[in-house]
Amino acid sequence: MSKPKVAFYWCASCGGCEEAVVDLNEDLLQVAEKVDIVFWPVALDFKRSDVEKLSDRSIAVSFINGAIRTREQEEMVRLLRKKSAYVAAFGSCAHIGGIPGLGNQFAKEKLLKLIYEDLETNDDRTVPKPLSKADGNELEIPEICEYVRTLDQTIDVDYYIPGCAPPADIILKGLTAFLKGELPPKGTVFASDKSLCDTCPLRDKKPDKFSIKELKRPHEVIHDPEKCFLSEGIICLGPATRSGCGERCINANMPCRGCFGPSPRVYDQGAKILSAIASLLGIDEEEIASEEDVSRLIDSIPDPVGLFYMYSLPASNLGDKRRNDEQKDNS
Ligand code: SF4
Ligand code: SF4
Repeated sequence: MSKPKVAFYWCASCGGCEEAVVDLNEDLLQVAEKVDIVFWPVALDFKRSDVEKLSDRSIAVSFINGAIRTREQEEMVRLLRKKSAYVAAFGSCAHIGGIPGLGNQFAKEKLLKLIYEDLETNDDRTVPKPLSKADGNELEIPEICEYVRTLDQTIDVDYYIPGCAPPADIILKGLTAFLKGELPPKGTVFASDKSLCDTCPLRDKKPDKFSIKELKRPHEVIHDPEKCFLSEGIICLGPATRSGCGERCINANMPCRGCFGPSPRVYDQGAKILSAIASLLGIDEEEIASEEDVSRLIDSIPDPVGLFYMYSLPASNLGDKRRNDEQKDNS
């Protein structure tokens, strides 16, 4: 009996998700024995034409990491969708947009201008174009899309393996489910259904009631490892984030930044944490009830979008608004 065909592909990402697969160590060898890897550009010399030759839906599962930023990525994931029975969004960028999704704060032209024309460290002021000519030759590079999309804003996605990067146990859980044919309902995120606060080792240190009078960045304070970050005024996205990472950041004395995406009952991770924090600010208390104090607290967050939507901007309500505005502009 032939082995199930599996593909791995990366789009706009840092490469950490590919490393996470390799980090499976001997487990990867065991998986590799049971499957026929038909496409994995970062590790094996397959070409796009090899995928094109495959019959439709003949790949058992394609694991695709990275957000969709270029037309080439869009074409490739459409091709893999056609050739695959199942598609799994692998890692934060494919799942919710990830760090590349922060580019959605700016129009494409503004980003290109900033990086290729305005940055002082860029001596060569050439803005890349999709098609260039030099010495009689034509060079084509992938065109950048107007905005960054999650994988499921581009193609139909069956499952999600969250995390930046996904931890080995979550990857193995997903791989095992596919290999055994024991698949959960479509749309399942292979992680816990709890919020990070529910599983955090500091959850019992989180007071039932507390009011934050000052917001601090992690480097501005020596964190007490016995205290919940929020109770110290350090913003932690744990209340709005899905658990399952093994509380990696918390255990390393850093607050959560939300890479596992929203917890099951949360749609907009950034808005949820904003409202949670607003309710914790001591603005009802007499001593800091003035407008100036409220403004001071808000101003103490230097990059609110980068903080509250560090991983989830394309998947958020703000992302929806941007897409709707662009659709209106283009109609
Ligand atoms: S807010 Fe952060 S530190 Fe506090 S309990 Fe939740 S996850 Fe843990
Ligand atoms: S603590 Fe938060 S940011 Fe860190 S790995 Fe877990 S979900 Fe991701």
